[in-house]
Formats: sequence, C-alpha cells, structure tokens
Amino acid sequence: MAPTPERYAKIRRVLSKRQPTLTVLMDEVNKPHNLSAIVRTCDAVGVLEAHAVPPKHGTLAAFEGHTYDATSGSAHKWVRVNPHADAVGAVRALQSRGFQVLATHLSQRSVDYRDLDYTRPTCVLLGAEKWGVSDEAADAADANIVIPMYGMVQSLNVSVAAASILFEAGRQRLAAGMYGTPQLSPQALEALAFEWAYP
Ligand code: SAM
Repeated sequence: MAPTPERYAKIRRVLSKRQPTLTVLMDEVNKPHNLSAIVRTCDAVGVLEAHAVPPKHGTLAAFEGHTYDATSGSAHKWVRVNPHADAVGAVRALQSRGFQVLATHLSQRSVDYRDLDYTRPTCVLLGAEKWGVSDEAADAADANIVIPMYGMVQSLNVSVAAASILFEAGRQRLAAGMYGTPQLSPQALEALAFEWAYP
C-alpha cells in the first residue's frame, strides 16, 4: 500500500537525521528486552544500523526478528542489526571502515565516556550482561570508556549504559550541526525512503 504524503514526509525527515557514522556493537547481549531497548535508543538517536555478536547459545537468525520483544517499540524495523561471528573480528572490521571503537570496559586505560569526540565515526562496544566486554575485544578497541558510578552497585544495566553514551554522542553531534544536514548521500536517502515506505 502506498504511504500517505505525511508518512512519506516523516520517513524522509527521520532519514535526513540518520547518523551512518554512529553505531553500537553488542557483544553477546542475550536478553531480548536489553537488545530491544538498545535498538530503540539507536533509533531515537539516529543510528542507521547496529552490529551484534549473537550469544553463543543462539544463532545468527536470532537477530532476524524473534529475539525482540515489546520493549523495542518496533524500532527494530528501522535499525538493521548486522550479525558478526566474533567480537574481535567485528571490532577490526569496523575499524577498517574508519570507525573508532570505544569499548565500555574498566581497565588501566579507561577514560570517562564524556571525554571522547563522538563527532568522529564511532562504534560503542557493549558487553554481555554477565561477563561484560572480553579483554581481547577491549584491547583491540581504540579506547576503553566508563560511565563513572557513585553507588553501591558496580555496573549499570547494559541498555541504560548504551542510552547514556549514545545520548552524549547525540549531544555532541547536535552541537556540531550533524542533525541539521543529512549525513546520508542523496542516493542512499532516496533508496532507504523507498525501502521504508514499501516494506
Ligand atoms: N560483570 C560485568 C563486568 O564485569 O563487566 C558487568 C557487565 S554490565 C551489567 C553489562 C554491560 O553494560 C557492560 O559490559 C557495559 O557494556 C555496560 N555498562 C554497565 N555499566 C557501565 C559503566 N559504568 N560504564 C560503561 N559501561 C557500562
């Protein structure tokens, strides 16, 4: 069915703010509500596509629909999640595409997440609920970042950490005018508008 003019205008408006140079890599995030909440935040901030290493007990197909729950608010329709076989391989693949990879990981070289420049092509690496980011993936990343904590509990829920960091990235990008000018090429924007309008 053809979209209404209003619907098509909304699709174009959203795509004109998409940030192809901002993404996340979810390393074995295994709870559907966390995956769904992260993808929903990605949509809100304008992440074009996300990346994930499926949990070891899952399959790549798990990222093609049925691991999302109502928490996603249908955001997974608008943010593609690309599967990867392993975290270190995914980090290297993203770096070879020009992304700085920031691992959310406590280490000797960790810095406050607000001290990074998110106007650069950036991928935020998020860890599994139980184990966090592996040392190997954290070592392969360009920097290790942490959200300072002042409470009794040592870590945040992964989707809350993702939202905090992505909205800091969004704040910096807004200040730099990156939501004011389309970041997608006119051809890519038209192609995606057609895809979204006629799913
Ligand atoms: N036991 C795990 C560990 O030692 O890393 C805790 C993992 S935490 C529940 C799940 C994920 O949330 C982390 O891998 C990271 O991606 C993110 N996270 C949680 N708290 C964070 C913080 N204070 N700073 C940065 N990322 C955080």
